[in-house]
Amino acid sequence: MCLSLRDNLEKLSNACGVTGRESEVRELMIRLMTPYADEIIVDKLENVIAVKKGKENSSKIMLAAHMDEVGLMVKTITKDGFLQFAKMGGIDDRILPAQMVKVFSKKKVFPGIIGSKPPHIQKEEERKKIITSDELFIDVGAQNRENALAMGVAIGDSVGFDIEYTALENDAAIGKAFDNRAGCAAMVETLKLLEKTDFTVYAAGTVQEEVGLRGAGTAAFAVDPDVAIALDVTIAGDVPGVREYDTTLKMGKGPAITITDSGLITHPKVLRWLHETAEQETIPYQIETGLMGSTDAARISLTRCGIPSGNISVPTRYIHSPVSMVSLKDVENAARLTAAAINKAGSYF
Ligand SMILES: [Zn+2]
Repeated sequence: MCLSLRDNLEKLSNACGVTGRESEVRELMIRLMTPYADEIIVDKLENVIAVKKGKENSSKIMLAAHMDEVGLMVKTITKDGFLQFAKMGGIDDRILPAQMVKVFSKKKVFPGIIGSKPPHIQKEEERKKIITSDELFIDVGAQNRENALAMGVAIGDSVGFDIEYTALENDAAIGKAFDNRAGCAAMVETLKLLEKTDFTVYAAGTVQEEVGLRGAGTAAFAVDPDVAIALDVTIAGDVPGVREYDTTLKMGKGPAITITDSGLITHPKVLRWLHETAEQETIPYQIETGLMGSTDAARISLTRCGIPSGNISVPTRYIHSPVSMVSLKDVENAARLTAAAINKAGSYF
């Protein structure tokens, strides 16, 4: 399936892949990467790796974009038929009440809403405090526990946010799970932009990033690359209330090259390679330093005897909430930078 970057991002954003249940996204990634790959591998943890062969006995470059998204999991069903849940990945409790969700059961997908005790009957002091996720519940219209079970809802079902991709003015878009479908779309676009390469490229859609960069570890161990780039998103700080000290990244001003995050100090050679590529190709880019959070690159860099790794990230507003915002230009430039870097990798590694 060969689609435009915009169509790919829309399809990827609308697909659901709550951490540990990435199959819908994986199937889509297989369809999107197949036209540009010599081989597609799904490993035992169910990472998907598209291989684009380089010269014989060539060095190996790994790209990683995690396919999972933050979401919820059904933990208990109350006797009245409400679903209590656990959080899968880092989600701020404050943004959960009144969200529309989808419960993915074996039988079918149930629409629902995250409910809480109505504010009208909360005590004064209750209204001032944050309602934590253990006080919230999902209402799928079940009459009681027996009815919920008969409908097909089960403990362990994954729950995703119900948000449709929407295009905005100025090349912006809002949608679900841009963390990290923006990275997935950039990875597909990178494969599209590549022609013949000297290096063999392993483009990995990884699982379970949001709960500890898990899939990237096993994928990198299997691929054993000479160098790796994680394609992910990062926080855009261009909204009211964010200090320049915290981040200078702006949406629409180019992908970010990470110098350091909480899990990675980018290998100096990788940093020089990405900077020089962006400068030589006049691709807009920004520099990221010291933010909290981390990406698959942190795990890959510590795999086996150590793998020089870096990040190319799309500055994204409102990440880890049900809906976030990106600039399509940034996603496109992340792909352009990655493809150009792959073409120049022979001078560095
Ligand atoms: Zn991410």
